Amino acid sequence: MKKVGFFRSIHLKFVLIYVLLILIAMQIIGVYFVSKLEKQLINNFSDSLDERITLLTYSIEQEIMKQRDDTTLTIEEDIRNVLQDVTMEDILEVRVINNKSKVLGTSDPYNQTRMVGKRTTDLLIKRALAVGRYSEDDAIDRNTGDRVRIIAAPIKTNSQENIIGAIYMKASMENVYDQMRQINSIFTAGTTLALAVTAVLGVLLAQTITRPMSDMRKQALEMARGNFSRKVNIYGNDEIGQLALSFNNLTRKLQEAQATTEGERRKLSSVLSHMTDGVIATDRKGRVILINEPALGMLNVSRETVLQKPIVEVLDIVETHTFDSLVSEQETLILDFSTEKKPLILRASNSIIQKETGFINGLITVLHDITEQEKIDQERREFVANVSHELRTPLTTMRSYLEALAEGAWKDDEIAPKFLDVTQTETERMIRLVNDLLQLSKMDTRDYRFNKISVDFVEFFDRIIDRFELSKSQKVTFVRDLPAEAVWVSLDEDKITQVLDNIISNAMKYSPEGGTITFSVHIEETAKQILVSISDQGVGIPKADLSKVFDRFYRVDKARTRMLGGTGLGLAIAKEMINAHNGDIWASSQEGKGTKIFFTLPITQEEQKDDWS
Ligand code: ADP
Repeated sequence: MKKVGFFRSIHLKFVLIYVLLILIAMQIIGVYFVSKLEKQLINNFSDSLDERITLLTYSIEQEIMKQRDDTTLTIEEDIRNVLQDVTMEDILEVRVINNKSKVLGTSDPYNQTRMVGKRTTDLLIKRALAVGRYSEDDAIDRNTGDRVRIIAAPIKTNSQENIIGAIYMKASMENVYDQMRQINSIFTAGTTLALAVTAVLGVLLAQTITRPMSDMRKQALEMARGNFSRKVNIYGNDEIGQLALSFNNLTRKLQEAQATTEGERRKLSSVLSHMTDGVIATDRKGRVILINEPALGMLNVSRETVLQKPIVEVLDIVETHTFDSLVSEQETLILDFSTEKKPLILRASNSIIQKETGFINGLITVLHDITEQEKIDQERREFVANVSHELRTPLTTMRSYLEALAEGAWKDDEIAPKFLDVTQTETERMIRLVNDLLQLSKMDTRDYRFNKISVDFVEFFDRIIDRFELSKSQKVTFVRDLPAEAVWVSLDEDKITQVLDNIISNAMKYSPEGGTITFSVHIEETAKQILVSISDQGVGIPKADLSKVFDRFYRVDKARTRMLGGTGLGLAIAKEMINAHNGDIWASSQEGKGTKIFFTLPITQEEQKDDWS
């Protein structure tokens, strides 16, 4: 935050207000005081002049009324003597005029000859002589430029009946105004001093307010930076002190709230990053503001690239959805993010973040990986479809044969046994199918017990091949490539018999007339296992189908295998069983030349030792 400039500061405002107040007060007092004083001084001046004029009038009257002869002085000389005594600094000139307007004398030594004996034309004097009026006038002296007061007073006889002359007096008022000036300058100095003191006091007073305030400002700035350890100093118990106290309380409460929020935030972020579901949060415009690690992994994006991006773009649903439609429908979406390497199906559940007022603040999308579930669902659907199909085909066949029989074919000695034979074959196939399904279902529910015992695999395998050799109907040659010594393997005889039955019967089914089936067992010392292989010279399996033949119901050539009575479950069961014995099973083939089925089984150590001993 910017520092408050001096011209905007409370300091200056305080000082200005104080100074202005004092100035106005001093001005009002000054105007009143000075005008009163001026009046008073002028009154005093007038009074003193009046007194002097009265005295002078009396003296002059005496002189005028005096009896004169040759021995006495002339009236002019007497008056000059009287006027000589009237030497006071503020009286500039006194003239005495007789009732004929003739100047009898003047106190001005330089004007004696020029003025005495002359008639005067001064209006004030004339008025005094004519009507006996005392009059005064303020004027500016033409020579000196001083302010002067001119007084014309009549001189009357003792009985006050006749006007025998007049006195003209000119007195300087500069003394009065000098005094006024002095008082004014004292007053100005006093005002200046008062203003200076007020300014200083204003600064000090402003400081008592601004110091705690700037302290609080500093603290507020620190708080904004996340530092709550600072405290405001409390200088007193006045309103500002109480404000500072409240501020400190507020700081403490904010610190507590911040700690709680921070704790909650950490908890939330730890929950978000440790949960397996992906979480995306948006602002009210649908732009991503939060995304957790699992969501980044699922969408295979980096945080920097998706933050602030519209969620519909991030979820790649721009063509089908808008943010508004997500908000209004809040439906659950199934998104396919599968790549060539990895299948990935996500379920996106949307919920809105809403304020109490109903204002929508954003959207939370939770991404749940449902690839496995989808796969299972898909498999289940396929399985049900396959089973229904597998059962429907023989049942339809049977129905048409039975219908034919019912419609009279039973009477035909040649056709009837054939038709019954077909229905019997189909029934047996269905029984086989249902048995195979039951077995797989048991293995799926892990409700399956193995009755494992240590068996010499070479002898065990030999016995099974013998059985096939004895019962075989077609012309195929059996070649055995078996080790001379016994190899001990821990296995459930029934289950592995079933495995070998399935593989060998396939080999025989797909072998051409006169083909060779080779049975071999290899001991792999390093891997501590046996590698069993059964190879034929039959139709072979296309490369693309090699891995799929172990899937349930998978058949390379559906029509042909069904004709051969297969259920499509033989190799699937074999795989389950071999895996349950900790072995592996796979196939290799050359189309048209033959197929080789391999499987491994671990060798039992102890039995081998026993055998060698
Ligand atoms: P089925 O009961 O139909 O034989 P299997 O699970 O045993 O089912 O075999 C699955 C499919 O694998 C067969 O339908 C067949 O197409 C193919 N197959 C299995 N063994 C051989 C083999 N020896 N030669 C050629 N194809 C084979």
